[in-house]
Amino acid sequence: MPTISLPARQVPVAHDADLIVVGGGPAGIATAVAAARRGAKVVLLERFPSVGGAATNAMVNIWHTSDREKIVILGLVQELIERLQHRQSGAIRRLWAYPTKPETYEFAPHEMRVAMHNLLDDAGVTTICHLAAMEPLLENGRIRGVLADTKTGRKAFLGKFVVDCTGDGDVAAAAGLPFEFGRESDGRVQGMTMMYNVSGVDAHEVSQNESEAVRVVQLMKDRRDRGEFPQFFEFAAKSYLSKGRDPGVSYNMCPVAGNPLDELDLTRCSVQARKQVLQYVDLWRREMPGFQNAKVTQMGSWLGIRESRRILGRVILNADDVVKARKRPDAVGHGFFAVDIHDPKGGGHSSWVEYDRTPPVGQSYHIPLSMCLNDQIPNLAVAGRCASTTHEGLGSVRIQTHCMVMGQGLGTAIALALHGGTEIADIDLATLHSQLRADGVYLEDVPTPALVPLANSTPELSPIAT
Ligand SMILES: Cc1cc2nc3c(=O)[nH]c(=O)nc-3n(C[C@H](O)[C@H](O)[C@H](O)COP(=O)(O)OP(=O)(O)OC[C@H]3O[C@@H](n4cnc5c(N)ncnc54)[C@H](O)[C@@H]3O)c2cc1C
Repeated sequence: MPTISLPARQVPVAHDADLIVVGGGPAGIATAVAAARRGAKVVLLERFPSVGGAATNAMVNIWHTSDREKIVILGLVQELIERLQHRQSGAIRRLWAYPTKPETYEFAPHEMRVAMHNLLDDAGVTTICHLAAMEPLLENGRIRGVLADTKTGRKAFLGKFVVDCTGDGDVAAAAGLPFEFGRESDGRVQGMTMMYNVSGVDAHEVSQNESEAVRVVQLMKDRRDRGEFPQFFEFAAKSYLSKGRDPGVSYNMCPVAGNPLDELDLTRCSVQARKQVLQYVDLWRREMPGFQNAKVTQMGSWLGIRESRRILGRVILNADDVVKARKRPDAVGHGFFAVDIHDPKGGGHSSWVEYDRTPPVGQSYHIPLSMCLNDQIPNLAVAGRCASTTHEGLGSVRIQTHCMVMGQGLGTAIALALHGGTEIADIDLATLHSQLRADGVYLEDVPTPALVPLANSTPELSPIAT
């Protein structure tokens, strides 16, 4: 690609804070709120008109909190659940029966948006939307802040610490941190999905016509195999058509595959997915009893992206850690979700359906602080789906409740580092754990020696990821 040179110019400093968080998804919100509540001056930068990331803008409105025996995710996740419950507006409801399945909540994305903004405001976080921050300001092996493009030009946001919660690891990658992209075999990332809502479905009529659902899914498959119909997630389509879909829960069955870091490819995928959604519902209106009056009421304003860059850090979480429910001295909370990989070729199939790579019922793994930290730039960290994992490890820890646990742990650790005048890796883990527990985080079975500072422990590299 040809290049041009730009003249040097002065850039105004918009904020000088303790912590700059880039990306206002579940991970960024939790990081910002946790640090601000413990006294840090925090600025959160988000490119979209509202925070929430996939939870709001991609309509991924499902949260899971239990290991199928007990609830192991509390803290800020539970607080948001209770804030929505307190509204008594139908903003959130329990979907699956606890304890036989993971405790699961479905929420209204537009209500969650407001609840998340309230959480940030109440904590004193300065939240700024409508800007994209891509460029790190590096100085003597540290990060000094980021440059963001706004409607009124480029501005600098300075901070003692910077956390990249962009999902894509934009800032961390630009700062030169090593990363991986995609699975080992062909470099492809998990398939993406356009979430959508349908109204006008007669659930009673649907439930009376299970055999018709089988016929319609077969029809979809036959046409797809002849190249006359788009790909779809068969397991989900069969379930929606035979049982109906709980009103309010987004349809999760419209797959596309591509490179989420390539704007051309991402545009193609988004447009293709929106067309696919209309094709499904047009066919159901014609063929499926109960769907005669169905109409698409909403699609995600953003295509749901499950995976892009994975920034390699001090620990790389892998599938073994998940399945064997591995515990860590630098735990910040628990994760329990299955290694859930949606077909990177866009076929729609998901490994979740087999449910074979999950921690045993009643067990969970530790989410370690070190998966957010790196050995190159001590005051730059990552949280959320761009944190340090293998392709498989990400399949579990990427879910929103796990990203929030990670963010709450990291934000608390950064506040501790600020107070102590240390690097994040040098904080006292026992103090971190007692603060997290005091803040309502579920944290059990932390192995000794929990008192060893992180900087003195040997960084672990997963054999799969190297
Ligand atoms: C279709 C689908 C279904 C899913 N199903 C579930 C489920 O059932 N349950 C569950 O818990 N999880 C589910 N997930 C996973 C989950 O939604 C994501 O992994 C999770 O949202 C990741 O959180 P995050 O904060 O790391 O990133 P994101 O939610 O991706 O948020 C990143 C934020 O950063 C912002 N951003 C990006 N770049 C910049 C920049 N340069 N400058 C400023 N802002 C930037 C984005 O706009 C966004 O708001 C699903 C995901 C998808 C796509």
